[in-house]
Amino acid sequence: MAGSFRELGLSPATLAAVERAGYTVPTPVQAGLIPRALTGADLLGQARTGTGKTASFVLPILERVSQPGRGGGPRALVLVPTRELAVQVRDEFEKLAHGSRIHCVAVYGGKPIKGQIDKLAKHPAVVVGTPGRVLDHLSRGTITLSGLEIVTLDEADRMLDIGFRPDIEKILRRCPESRQTLLLSATVPPPVAKLATRYMRDPEILDFSTNEISVETIDQFYFTVDPTRKFDLLERLLERENPRQVIVFCRTKRGTDKIFERLSRRRGHAAEVACIHGDLSQGIRDRVMKQFREGTVKVLVATDVVGRGIDVSSLSHIINYDIPEFCDDYVHRVGRTGRMGREGVAYTFVAPDEGPQLTRIEMRIEKLLKRDEIAGFEAFDRRPKPGPLPIREGTGPADNAGQTADAAPEEQPKKPPAAALLGKGRAPKRFRRAL
Ligand code: ADP
Ligand code: MG
Repeated sequence: MAGSFRELGLSPATLAAVERAGYTVPTPVQAGLIPRALTGADLLGQARTGTGKTASFVLPILERVSQPGRGGGPRALVLVPTRELAVQVRDEFEKLAHGSRIHCVAVYGGKPIKGQIDKLAKHPAVVVGTPGRVLDHLSRGTITLSGLEIVTLDEADRMLDIGFRPDIEKILRRCPESRQTLLLSATVPPPVAKLATRYMRDPEILDFSTNEISVETIDQFYFTVDPTRKFDLLERLLERENPRQVIVFCRTKRGTDKIFERLSRRRGHAAEVACIHGDLSQGIRDRVMKQFREGTVKVLVATDVVGRGIDVSSLSHIINYDIPEFCDDYVHRVGRTGRMGREGVAYTFVAPDEGPQLTRIEMRIEKLLKRDEIAGFEAFDRRPKPGPLPIREGTGPADNAGQTADAAPEEQPKKPPAAALLGKGRAPKRFRRAL
């Protein structure tokens, strides 16, 4: 792939910003997308997490809005699935727009709308937001879309998963037809393809996903563990690994709270542990993410709300306390570490009756997880074999774990279960083009 940002058609000012940001070599995704985006074409970019998709749309947007425009409302809009991601993308804009007069405002729910209205009144060139809050501003008349030149849908698969399709469509219908549309997604399941067909002009498909589902630099292990012993195993694993920074993923908000409380009670570690999920106020979520980025929080117990898109560079470990329900969630959780070639390790706790879930994940990532063990933790065999096996009816994890099974899942992803469980997040043939 192209060896330098200079070959991508960026202006000297943007190149200087890229250099200041410390990016020396474009990632393959950036080398592929940036020159095409600069031509004004509609693009659908498919690539796994951690491949630098953000800059691949931020840089072309900056190029565009640094040219004189017509005035009247923002010129670029980026839609993202979560509040955390809105903040992160806004920060990337600010980093790369440094020294220019281009402003970017993030709008998302859970924060008083007043402050955002004031910021929007100052006519930022770029707005990043979650679909719900953008609609809210639209209905209040505090944002206009008539001057938009570029619309970006980031993490499109995730936005559709969590039910944003009607909101996204409402927004897109109010954008000028002449706009350019960029869509970024780790997977292109049929709903994403449909959105692209309906709202994009003859999109070019740039598919970087081939055989790159799971990051090579991540060591991936599993433990078989009785559900009642998961917490003890977690403590022992944290002791053994002494991670620089770790996210412990749980399936539900309530489970997340419980694990957080139990970990905090460990003497001397309380300040290093935090938790984040969708029931916490936005103020708390922002503070926790900040402390995690700064490194004061070392252990973050989380639901999948932080499983997508969030990038914390010193993250060394991922622990799936609960095995993810959907294969894609596994890929996204584990993709939080090992970013940009750094080393990372991921552990997944598997209850004896969760073997099939593990197998589906392994099929999805086309790789076998390695088995790990800690002395004193009896390992069950995860796959039913002929012969005597200590699997009893009616004592599955939901009955005796009491940790997580009874609470509502975070964000309630509504996926077509069969496709999701089989990990069929692949694009229809016509949507695929290997580079
Ligand atoms: P994605 O959206 O594909 O998941 P991100 O855009 O969040 O990936 O990028 C992942 C990380 O890589 C970020 O920390 C970002 O700052 C960094 N990064 C992006 N592009 C480059 C580059 N060309 N060189 C070095 N680091 C980069
Ligand atoms: Mg991203």
